[in-house]
Amino acid sequence: MQISKRLTSILGGGSDGWGVFLRARQMIADGTPVTELTIGEHDIRTAAPILQDMHRAALGGHTGYAAISGTTTLRDTVARRVQDRTGVKTTRDNVVITPGGQSALFAAHAAATNPGDTALFIDPYYATYPGTIRGVSAIPKAIPAHAKDAFQPQGDEIAAAAPGAKSLLINSPNNPTGVVYTRPTLDAIAQVCKDNALWLISDEVYDTQVWNGTHISPRALPDMADKTLVVGSMSKSHAMTGSRCGWIIGPEDAVEHLTNLATHTTYGVPGYIQDAAEFALNQGPAFEEDIAAPFKRRRVLAQDIIAQQNAVSLVPADGAMYLMLDIRSTGMSGEDFAYALLDTHHIAVMPGESFGTAAAGHIRVAMTIEDSAFAQALKTLCTFAESRAQ
Ligand code: PMP
Repeated sequence: MQISKRLTSILGGGSDGWGVFLRARQMIADGTPVTELTIGEHDIRTAAPILQDMHRAALGGHTGYAAISGTTTLRDTVARRVQDRTGVKTTRDNVVITPGGQSALFAAHAAATNPGDTALFIDPYYATYPGTIRGVSAIPKAIPAHAKDAFQPQGDEIAAAAPGAKSLLINSPNNPTGVVYTRPTLDAIAQVCKDNALWLISDEVYDTQVWNGTHISPRALPDMADKTLVVGSMSKSHAMTGSRCGWIIGPEDAVEHLTNLATHTTYGVPGYIQDAAEFALNQGPAFEEDIAAPFKRRRVLAQDIIAQQNAVSLVPADGAMYLMLDIRSTGMSGEDFAYALLDTHHIAVMPGESFGTAAAGHIRVAMTIEDSAFAQALKTLCTFAESRAQ
């Protein structure tokens, strides 16, 4: 029996970019210790009080089918948080709870596009983006952001790609570059969306990880609230990656249709997970700063180490749990560099090429191990790059 084109085309035929990661995991399985600076997973686990609340909720009986669009109290909590952070009036009717940001990305594209429609996204990109778009039978079209522009996408390039497209997916703070989009960048993006009747899908799962300046949600820009679907998640902000709890913020009619989609796909998120998410959100901004603090600290460590040599340079970036390093002085591709670093020093990083073509000659380093081991790995990486520099 044949599997649908929709599913067989999800990977798009090319490399999925996980080769270095998989080789590192195989080395570990074979007994070789590897320093892993690959995936976006905190080096802490979900805080005990959140788990205790989850336990309390489950023992209290919140184990049956939960409200499909999300519990009223969680939707109220998310709406209040969004309104406080952005100033845009937001009620529970603008919120649908999803099993994580990934499923929110899928649902948002299902809402914004018809089969065969073009869905735009910015390269470099989080690895699942094109597959998520193909998963709803839309056509992914990448718009490059360039190293020379510090990976801020340019309005004229988006405008050139926009005619005929239905949606534009952006991500700030950005994975993989760590770049936080500036107000002029977001204004230009908003203008293109208005000029071309594009839905803006704004992936803001790293919105609590901003080291300089502030995160601006484009939903808050003039006339954008009715055109924007914001993807949020508990994963990064509250170290709850495994709990699978996220949301979409959007116009009320979109939320109604997204609730229909949830009824026919996920049937909602477990009630005890939603209760724990609500508890976690009610811990307030200081708790979120504590979760983000290790990355903020390690970024400073990295800046000091990188300032002491010339082979590697840091993409100027102000957010997320990653660093993007330019290793073009070695003459190697990001992929060749990453494989060589893994084989020589047992340090695993992600090649820039895993995130599209725009970050070729770069590597992404996740700041997800303890400070001294992180600093040591980065020093080794820099020495290795110096030894290869031309
Ligand atoms: N968007 C981006 C940019 C991400 O990096 C991730 C996870 N790494 C997600 C969305 C999805 O996260 P989750 O499904 O855990 O909320």
